[in-house]
Amino acid sequence: MTAASHLNDLALPPLAAIRARIARAAALAGRKAADVTLVAISKTRPAEAIMPLIGEGQRVFGENRVQEAQAKWPALIEAHPDIRLHLVGQLQSNKAEDAVRLFDAIHSLDRPSLLHALARAMDKAGRRVPLFVQVNIGAEDQKGGCAIADVPGLLSEARAADLPVEGLMCVPPAGIEAAPFFALLGKIAADNGLSGLSMGMSEDFETAVMLGATHVRIGSALFGARAG
Ligand SMILES: *Cc1c(COP(=O)(O)O)cnc(C)c1O
Repeated sequence: MTAASHLNDLALPPLAAIRARIARAAALAGRKAADVTLVAISKTRPAEAIMPLIGEGQRVFGENRVQEAQAKWPALIEAHPDIRLHLVGQLQSNKAEDAVRLFDAIHSLDRPSLLHALARAMDKAGRRVPLFVQVNIGAEDQKGGCAIADVPGLLSEARAADLPVEGLMCVPPAGIEAAPFFALLGKIAADNGLSGLSMGMSEDFETAVMLGATHVRIGSALFGARAG
């Protein structure tokens, strides 16, 4: 379902069209568009594809691999120091230091070993990077994320380690209606006193915004289909 598919027909550049659709979905839900952060997912895109979006004013970007981000972003950030980079992909503990140095938010905290690696990395770097706990919201075998039952325990470990957990993140099962999974993530967040909700991608971000998303992660609707 899209709340405002007719806006697709407007002759707007993709970024403006996405912003308009976010604003419309937020308004339907009695929310402010300013309370929804658009994270432009630039994985696999070269700098030449990213620069036009920066030119149009987009400042929050997301990548899913630390090494790819390290190759691409330092030069862009030097030219535009107000850019904020989010990590949305699985993170290996041995990359925690690199991730804490480069990223301004990490959406993929999913296990105690990574939590402790991030705590050490943040202590060493002298900076606290906001975190989202990724939840395996559809209890899928192959999917990353912490089991729903393990969320409270992971959150209390994070609090004990003085880690700034801003909210929860999910990628719902493919091919079925996402709304129940977004609603469930919202309930788990509320039950645990968290306000951040990183949910919604190109195909379902309006639904996510209506159900309380504070961060939508949008790639292909902004940049076009990814090759492979
Ligand atoms: C690639 C990716 C996205 C963006 O997906 P699109 O369908 O291209 O919008 C969002 N979240 C995560 C975790 C991703 O890996």
